[in-house]
Amino acid sequence: MLDVIALPAFNDNYIWLLKLRGDKRCWVVDPGEATPVQHYLQAQGLELEGILITHHHPDHIGGVEDLSSESTTLIGSFQDVYRLPSLSLQVAAGDRFQLLGQTVQVLEVPGHTLGHVAFFIQDQQPPLLFCGDTLFAAGCGRLFEGTPEQMHTSLQTLAQLPEETRVYAAHEYTLKNLEFARQVEPDNPALQERQQECQELRAAQQPTLPSSLALEKATNPFLRCSEPSVIQAAREFAEKEDLQDPAEVFAALRRWKDSA
Ligand SMILES: [Zn+2]
Repeated sequence: MLDVIALPAFNDNYIWLLKLRGDKRCWVVDPGEATPVQHYLQAQGLELEGILITHHHPDHIGGVEDLSSESTTLIGSFQDVYRLPSLSLQVAAGDRFQLLGQTVQVLEVPGHTLGHVAFFIQDQQPPLLFCGDTLFAAGCGRLFEGTPEQMHTSLQTLAQLPEETRVYAAHEYTLKNLEFARQVEPDNPALQERQQECQELRAAQQPTLPSSLALEKATNPFLRCSEPSVIQAAREFAEKEDLQDPAEVFAALRRWKDSA
């Protein structure tokens, strides 16, 4: 059984730390800074065996150098090797590798960046997904490098995973995302309920993550581009009555969120 611990970094990043119960070895995902990880390792007497990188942005890789030693395995996309020349393993879609005795599957999810990857651990119950800045709780990443079509396809790839999959996104953006989601779907009761739960969690200084894929499918407008209510809202925003294609609905929602 893998434990996943949230290490807050910067204002609203989470560095996810993975460890087996009763084992000193651990891994981290997207260490944008080294200090929170170093403090945790020291306090818990853990040894960092490896680092997973979802994409090359500084708030995801900034701590890599200080955390790496000769024995640390660094895994990231083959497309990010120019920013991370010290990668021990360059991965692409469909690759599998072992981490603490678990099989990790690599998904390519371009959009936020072109080389963005997600890591899926199917053997855990529930399965675990580390998706960086692609899928957020009730939202998705901005399109810095990819097209809306690419991001829509990437989100659909993630939506195919088992419903119970735990979604470990890299930022605590949930409340802001939920405000936008409610503008899109003011009459979605699941959204109203989620907003209340997340407000309570944040008031108690608790993370709103992980989420589940089932919850995202019920409340995340960017995964709901085929729902009549979302299509209608996108039509009104884009002032385009024949808007129908899910990728175009997604593009309109993303423009709307960027301008909100
Ligand atoms: Zn990013």
